[in-house]
Amino acid sequence: MFLRATTALTLAALAAPALAQEVNVYSYRQPELLAPLTDAFTEATGIKVNVAFLEKGMVERLQAEGRRSPADLMFTVDIARLASLVDAGVTQPVTSDVLSANVPAQYHDPDGNWWGLTTRARIVYASKDRVDPSEVTTYEDLADPKWKGRICTRSGTHDYTIGLVSAMIAHHGEEYTKTWIEGVKSNLARKPQGNDRAQVKAIWAGECDISLGNTYYMGQMLSDPEQVEWANSVNVLFPTFEGSGTHVNISGVAMAANAPNHDNALKMMEFLVSPEAQKVYASANYEYPIAPGAEADDLVKGWGTFTADETNLMEIAGHRSEALKLVEQVDFDG
Ligand code: FE
Repeated sequence: MFLRATTALTLAALAAPALAQEVNVYSYRQPELLAPLTDAFTEATGIKVNVAFLEKGMVERLQAEGRRSPADLMFTVDIARLASLVDAGVTQPVTSDVLSANVPAQYHDPDGNWWGLTTRARIVYASKDRVDPSEVTTYEDLADPKWKGRICTRSGTHDYTIGLVSAMIAHHGEEYTKTWIEGVKSNLARKPQGNDRAQVKAIWAGECDISLGNTYYMGQMLSDPEQVEWANSVNVLFPTFEGSGTHVNISGVAMAANAPNHDNALKMMEFLVSPEAQKVYASANYEYPIAPGAEADDLVKGWGTFTADETNLMEIAGHRSEALKLVEQVDFDG
């Protein structure tokens, strides 16, 4: 109820003088996902949450507002976007025993500028009819000629792809990764296009046999009458890096550099990694809760277990610009 009213909040409203018990949020995450969490937080603490849902331009807005920004917390997905907030200087480090205890080391900035709240794996969707699950092994193997004309994927410059390419650089270095991107490109059934779900649709339509996508899209497709057939045409398979695990990315939170409601914001961050909030996250968007011991949704558990690559996301984020350069050099989307 409350959230519906705050959804339309304007900057002017957010910039009003801070009341005693509130916290201001800028979010790239959808209202449907955030509402149950902010409602639960307000119920538990009495702290009001004002949310500005943004489609783009969060960094620019925070920079333009500068020290007068009303923002306390920023919510977004993907290490690329979290790292770009840090790079832009619009975050502040946060240390907290509660956060440290609930967020594994590879899923937060060692300096505390961003903290993961949920994880998602970048997996292979594979045709049930045309791919034996044992065919899918490693990310490296996706460059093997056995996949010629069989792979669909979204743009090479999308943050999700850049995350995977950055992780490949972390494992094997730039030269290997360039050859790998070339190999994957030569295996594509069509030019990169569309979102993760569009690739599964293409598998369903017979255009390709496998695609790369994030895990939670399986849950989203299964709960959409138009997309359920696409979902039912594929298996969820967990490739790994050679000798390591599956590529995992996060959704996360960062505290604004000048957070006017610092203490309330910290309370909210700590609430979001609590068992109660982690459970809401797990059921709301088919992501994996980040806190050790918190259980995924039954549907998500049904996709099977996997070992996550343990490379720190900070290291992966550090290879973003090399990754983008390689994707462009190889003209992956061309
Ligand atoms: Fe997504």
